[in-house]
Amino acid sequence: MTQLAPGSVLGIVGGGQLGRMSAIAAARLGYRAHILTTEADGPAAQVAHAITLGRYDDHDALRRFADAVDVITFEFENISADGLDLLSSIRPVHPAGHILRISQDRIAEKMFMAENDIPVAPWRGVHDRADLDRAAKDLGYPFILKTTRLGYDGKGQARIHDASGLDAAFDGLRPHPLVAEGMVRFACEVSVMVARNAHGEVVTFDVTENRHRNGILDISLAPARIAPELAARAQDLARRIATALDLTGLLGVEMFVDRDGSLRVNEIAPRPHNSGHWTMDACPVDQFGMHVRAVTGLPLPPASRHSDAVMKNLIGPEDMALWPEIMAAPRLLAHHYGKAEARPGRKMGHVNVLFPKGALPGEFGVEAALGPLARALDDA
Ligand code: AMP
Repeated sequence: MTQLAPGSVLGIVGGGQLGRMSAIAAARLGYRAHILTTEADGPAAQVAHAITLGRYDDHDALRRFADAVDVITFEFENISADGLDLLSSIRPVHPAGHILRISQDRIAEKMFMAENDIPVAPWRGVHDRADLDRAAKDLGYPFILKTTRLGYDGKGQARIHDASGLDAAFDGLRPHPLVAEGMVRFACEVSVMVARNAHGEVVTFDVTENRHRNGILDISLAPARIAPELAARAQDLARRIATALDLTGLLGVEMFVDRDGSLRVNEIAPRPHNSGHWTMDACPVDQFGMHVRAVTGLPLPPASRHSDAVMKNLIGPEDMALWPEIMAAPRLLAHHYGKAEARPGRKMGHVNVLFPKGALPGEFGVEAALGPLARALDDA
């Protein structure tokens, strides 16, 4: 793949905040971002060179979009197989369709991991009610039942504590098939952002430690407070996944650190990831810059970090009510996504706080550094 010349057009499927930050990173390298979006004034459209307004299953819109760009990438994975094929028939698509198909389907994802000796939680495919009984017997209680497609931010899953919960979970989760997963007793959740370009160069950012609240990512700490040997293993897993997928682009790999010291991959997302937002202020080239470089065929600089960082998401009206105080707090490096309405649970922006490398503080220090947002932590 040759390098895309400055002035070329990067097509981004999806108009949310990940598209917005990718478009800004593209502009920094002289590219123009063209967004396929359903929102004329959404987060990405506000900062883009051009948009195609249309649904992701509208073949006419997909065709017009592809014709207007030089290379296509994603900020959003839930585009249909048909739509992907259409886009790929017109322009190069990175990451390639086969990667999206794996990440869109938890069963395909787990089969890919098994084929490549990547550790995951014990799991069973659940196609009918009898499968669920067998899964309960094999995995033991409690276990988790998840939809295979379209799950995000903890939606589309149920924790089953005993046999009385089987029917409701099976009937309540749609569409089928489902996947049953044994409960991992994890010490913490971590993720690794890995980028790979078409020349086979691979870089991994430092491992991030993630904490959720109400099923949504709340805080990321970088680097994760785990043993260096474990961190190196996590990065190695991410590198192996990227290579086995023949990835061109950026990929987030979410993992559990089991209390027994083993790592298990939970899921992959072939796009920038919320848990990589700390890189925007703590790394010379952040995840969005790396994403743009990978899909435009540019060399990948080291994914090094010059500072330790804490990232906190700004979610819903409660956090956004603190915006004036956030603006007045000099240590909070704020990123606003330009969304008009702060609905409950909606990701509106995030803040990063930096610390000298090696000086990421403990619990109280993190809270103190978050200033006005520490209050929100207290409620967790
Ligand atoms: P997911 O939608 O797969 O990202 O899951 C959302 C959250 O549910 C994860 O971040 C975990 O906190 C929890 N979770 C999911 N799967 C498991 C599992 N197999 N064992 C323990 N916790 C899990």
